[in-house]
Amino acid sequence: MTAEIRPLGEFELIERYFARGARGARSDVIAGIGDDAAILRLPPDVDLVAAVDTLVAGRHFPPQSGARSIGHRALAVNLSDIAAMGATPAWATLALTMPSADGAWLAEFSTGLTQLAQAHGVALVGGDTTAGPLTISVQILGTVERGGALRRAGGQAGDILAVTGTLGDAGAGLRLSMGRLASPACAATRELVGRFEYPTPRVEFGRAARGIASAAMDLSDGLVGDLPKLASASGLAARVDVARLPLSPALLALVPEAQARELALAAGDDYELLVAVAPRRFDELAESARQLNLTVAAIGELLPGRGVTWTLAGRPFAVPANGYDHFR
Ligand code: ADP
Ligand code: MG
Repeated sequence: MTAEIRPLGEFELIERYFARGARGARSDVIAGIGDDAAILRLPPDVDLVAAVDTLVAGRHFPPQSGARSIGHRALAVNLSDIAAMGATPAWATLALTMPSADGAWLAEFSTGLTQLAQAHGVALVGGDTTAGPLTISVQILGTVERGGALRRAGGQAGDILAVTGTLGDAGAGLRLSMGRLASPACAATRELVGRFEYPTPRVEFGRAARGIASAAMDLSDGLVGDLPKLASASGLAARVDVARLPLSPALLALVPEAQARELALAAGDDYELLVAVAPRRFDELAESARQLNLTVAAIGELLPGRGVTWTLAGRPFAVPANGYDHFR
């Protein structure tokens, strides 16, 4: 790639960094980048599932973040919302506001976004490009069998609450990269920073959980903030045993267990899925996860009533306030 001497024009920029990689990605894109709006052909008997999430520099990621990570995360957080609905992602649009048209930055940003889009069969079908403080909005569109989406409200009393993967890693990774946690140069540090910079949206698991789980949501803000939303949407209370939170070996290698639990509860940015599942179907869900090389850990249950109770070794546990060490 040649060095940019003059600033890129808007048309050239869109063509080079976004349109080229998107063309031909899906046959259901009747009109993609280049017209005034995209035309997308829906198959019969599906519901359209739509979500949008915005990342603001200095608020949702450190200002010094690499462009490839920013591109990846901008799509990943949206794919995670689609995953939580048990839906299949299909199309995305991108509203990109940036201080200047820096070719090297754009090349990295579009690589991060495009690689993840391709991995999930998602076509970038349009967007908007403006000058201003770095802000990225991605809108994602997906489909799900008519009436079949997973909802937060579907939880039943007696359901097991379970989470995919491990919690707290991304929060630790963010704090390591910002110098808020001592960061030895080791594999554990790299792994945790990677979990913040390149989260893995659980799209395949969400799709598998549809028809097994009764409710789902993705964990973006931390369990302490997110779980009450699922419980109250389901009209139920929840109980969580903090000792059962899945913590990674990398996290436990770098921080004491108590701190690992705090990060798992309140740091956010994990993009794992929280699901409610009938006890008799838990093994089936765990097997679906296993086939995807993913673990699913039972952490508690839904009960009649209201509110969330946190326990550790049978005693009430005082959870950290959500976003306690948050620079959001
Ligand atoms: P309009 O003025 O009609 O909104 P633009 O000239 O802004 O169109 O954009 C031209 C085309 O490029 C449109 O199809 C638009 O969706 C697309 N586009 C603009 N910015 C982006 C972007 N950052 N990523 C993807 N597509 C974009
Ligand atoms: Mg127009």
